[in-house]
Amino acid sequence: MLGALFYGAAMPISARANSVFQWLKNASGAVCTIIFPSGCRLCDQLLTDATRLPICELCLSSFPTSLPGSCDICGLPATFDPEFPQAISYCRDCQQRRFAFQLARSYGLYEGPLVRAILLLKYERIEPMGTWFAERLTEVVRKEQERMEADVVVPVPLHRRRARERGFNQVDVFGRPLAGRLHLPYRPVLLMRSRPRPEKHLLRHDERWEAVRGAFAMRAGGRVDNLRILLLDDVMTTGATLDACSRALREAGAKSVLGLTIARAGQSAGFSRFHGKPKDARDER
Ligand SMILES: [Zn+2]
Ligand SMILES: [Zn+2]
Repeated sequence: MLGALFYGAAMPISARANSVFQWLKNASGAVCTIIFPSGCRLCDQLLTDATRLPICELCLSSFPTSLPGSCDICGLPATFDPEFPQAISYCRDCQQRRFAFQLARSYGLYEGPLVRAILLLKYERIEPMGTWFAERLTEVVRKEQERMEADVVVPVPLHRRRARERGFNQVDVFGRPLAGRLHLPYRPVLLMRSRPRPEKHLLRHDERWEAVRGAFAMRAGGRVDNLRILLLDDVMTTGATLDACSRALREAGAKSVLGLTIARAGQSAGFSRFHGKPKDARDER
């Protein structure tokens, strides 16, 4: 220390100014790194406001959130199903009363930048992103306040092997702040996934339904008697996962289940059934 001071004092003025300049430069760099961590994770644009969100305003406002003419029950956008019976405002699945949940809603479409934002949430556990999505989902709930009244918030659980691999359930990242905003209790250990998803990467529509049939169960001691459940997941594709969880909750005595996800995937149950396209692993958990 003394040596360093001595050395400093003995330095020529220009060298000292230079080292002060260098120190300032490093310090301001460090401050910048704290306030502006990096560029936007989606478009690389420099983040200019002091938010902890790793996505810029422009990208946030580009999320596809319009769900035109969607099904009154499951929220399926009419554009996903070329034979959507517009006149009665229910998709064909809902006409056949396929789902065990009362209704399902999503913030946006699982397309473009929203896919990448959800992947950040899912694999990097970016908490400010979770809070941001929680705010958007609160707005979705408030929009249909009366139909979306609930007593408790429950996330779709991961199988314990998957939970161990990932270290967290991505639904908790936005589920906890959402429950806080809605002033509802958050119950992440009420349900469990007793059967893991098949290892196969791509699942056809019928395989998706088969993969989750009876795959969820109540944990011992979990009580949902007469409760209205707000069931959360990140992405809804066929609705099979939300349906399987809803059945387990209803069988345990829940009064009703409402589904809520960040995004609705384009290749819906209807779409793949009518076109026979292979499905990707979007709601792979
Ligand atoms: Zn951006
Ligand atoms: Zn529907």
